Amino acid sequence: MQDYAKVSVHGGHSGTYCNHARDHLADVVQRYIDLGFEWVCLTEHMPPANAAMIMPEEAAAGYDTAGLHQRFARYFDEARALASAHKNSIELLVGFETEAYTGFEQEVESLIATFEPDMIVGSVHHVADILFDAGPAAYQAARDACGSIENMYCEYFDRQLALINRFEPAVVGHFDLIRIYDPDYPSRWQVPAIKERALRNLDRIKSLGLILDLNARALAKGAAEPYIASPWLSYAIKQEIAIVTGDDSHGIDNVGNHLDETVAALLRAGGHTRWTKPAYFRHCR
Ligand SMILES: [Zn+2]
Ligand SMILES: [Zn+2]
Repeated sequence: MQDYAKVSVHGGHSGTYCNHARDHLADVVQRYIDLGFEWVCLTEHMPPANAAMIMPEEAAAGYDTAGLHQRFARYFDEARALASAHKNSIELLVGFETEAYTGFEQEVESLIATFEPDMIVGSVHHVADILFDAGPAAYQAARDACGSIENMYCEYFDRQLALINRFEPAVVGHFDLIRIYDPDYPSRWQVPAIKERALRNLDRIKSLGLILDLNARALAKGAAEPYIASPWLSYAIKQEIAIVTGDDSHGIDNVGNHLDETVAALLRAGGHTRWTKPAYFRHCR
């Protein structure tokens, strides 16, 4: 294994600001420092655009839309303070991770205007406005709502393109998350309508100069390869798209997990570890 600089374009979810993560943000940041990370993007999930999009675990904890917006504002304050306090040990870029459900545009635009993030991660976790990565049952419901598994993949990549075109996020999060509960996903890549969309999106990412999040969390959840899967990873490498590790940590004990395996997969596919750091305010041009 060759030496590489530890970085994360997508990380730092914490129990302080997210009910499906654990631990205090300050302790998560300290863990990045202890592990020797050079720079990390803190990318907490955006608050819901409306009451229907409140995450189940946050609804269960008694949060409403206003409460989640207030918590998100506290996240920005603390993340900025941590970035400043630790600036001699680690570079922290303070941003957030988007959604791409109906009505996301107005919400993301308003968050960007209010908080002026250093960068954002553009992610899609919904198709047909159903949170498909919440578990196998949710995945099945999303698939049913789309009519077929093929339609579900197509809808995912269409949403992703809309997000990319609208906000040009510095980082595109877990490019092929849509495969999460589909054991037959390699066969989907052969479906022309799906393949065309994936390649189309990669070409757009290349033309805009965005960074692909090489997301190690897939391995934590039992997948055999990180997001992005091997055919798209190979294509992205050939097209010289910037590809950078993201640990997508959701607590102290998964900071930096599976980074070696993820980097090994990148190197095997012909990639390199001369990481591109997201340009500040890349999305605000
Ligand atoms: Zn999360
Ligand atoms: Zn995500």
